[in-house]
Amino acid sequence: MAAYDALERRVRTRLQSVDSDRLRRVLRAPSGIDLSSNDYLGLAQHPALKAAMAAAVEREGCGSTGSRLLRGERACFAAVERRFAAFKGTARALYFSSGYLANLAVLTTFPEAGDVILSDALNHASLIDGIRLSGVRRVVFPHLDVGALSRLMEAHRGAGRTFVVTESLFSMDGDEAPLRQYAELCRATGAHLIVDDAHAVGVYGQRGSGLVEEAGVDGDVFVSISTAGKALGVSGAFVTGPEWAIEFLIQKARPFVFSTAPPPAIAAALEASLDIVDGEVDRRARLASRAAHLRRRLAEHSIRTIPGRSQIVPVIIGDNLRAVELAELLQAAGFDVRAIRPPSVPPGTARLRLSVNVGLSEAVLDEFVSALASAVGQPTCSVASS
Ligand SMILES: *Cc1c(COP(=O)(O)O)cnc(C)c1O
Repeated sequence: MAAYDALERRVRTRLQSVDSDRLRRVLRAPSGIDLSSNDYLGLAQHPALKAAMAAAVEREGCGSTGSRLLRGERACFAAVERRFAAFKGTARALYFSSGYLANLAVLTTFPEAGDVILSDALNHASLIDGIRLSGVRRVVFPHLDVGALSRLMEAHRGAGRTFVVTESLFSMDGDEAPLRQYAELCRATGAHLIVDDAHAVGVYGQRGSGLVEEAGVDGDVFVSISTAGKALGVSGAFVTGPEWAIEFLIQKARPFVFSTAPPPAIAAALEASLDIVDGEVDRRARLASRAAHLRRRLAEHSIRTIPGRSQIVPVIIGDNLRAVELAELLQAAGFDVRAIRPPSVPPGTARLRLSVNVGLSEAVLDEFVSALASAVGQPTCSVASS
């Protein structure tokens, strides 16, 4: 009994410091105009995806009943993997039930003791956790800094293999890695480039397969990770790469081997999603033009964002409480905007992460920017007291 009391006391103390750091998070269901989801192409509610998924549920049932290596395997998984590999321009693909697990899988399977992993300072938590779990020596390089990366690669060159790990389009900053320069550096030094294309798939490139495609570095990237729960509007993630690498993941990646296969109907929804990405090129063009429109309007109102061209538009606020208060003001005005605080972003850089989707008209974006400008101009408690 006493032991349980001691644990509860400790947890309550920890929760108090979450509150005093203005970091308490709450679970809030969607309400209002969407400026916070990753459903960039508006596919999560698309009738074609819903119909494909519903029909597949009728055919295949709900659960897959086992891991892919046991009774959970289905022809539809292999089919969508073949299609995704071709879409990415690689030999083979493997589907995981989440991007988080895909990143853990890649980073715990390929690097071994004696290797070194160079990781961008702003990489996603799932990449960081994968690197930590790998137990391999990690060297963090400053965000997007090719010169520093090159120097650190030289300084930390070991007996083993060197891996460079980066996002392509950064999830909380909306800026982009210099993939061509990284590719050149890796080619020159024999290092292996791992790219998390989570926010770029469906958005960039002629085929819409992401920034690896747009940068033309398909041939230089060792493996990339493409999430399916963002622009593709479904769930899960694909790892794409050479035949031997994917085969090794099937044999060794613990998040693949020791986890139940996803519901088969997911594969049907993904086929429908890829049909739209293939067939409706205007969707990504519209997304780009709406993102440019929002960035332009914000600039006209002197609201500063992290420079970039993408659909992820961060407005840096700094103070945690002020960011939450601004988000609440905008929510009250009917816009679903969320404050992003540490540890999702570095301390002192709390922000409103605006994400654009194709369903937002220019008129709605204009209304939103007016609401944001007036909220920003309004003093809030945190500002008054600081
Ligand atoms: C969202 C995200 C992930 C995790 O993908 P899930 O499918 O949500 O688990 C991985 N990497 C990046 C960069 C992400 O933004």
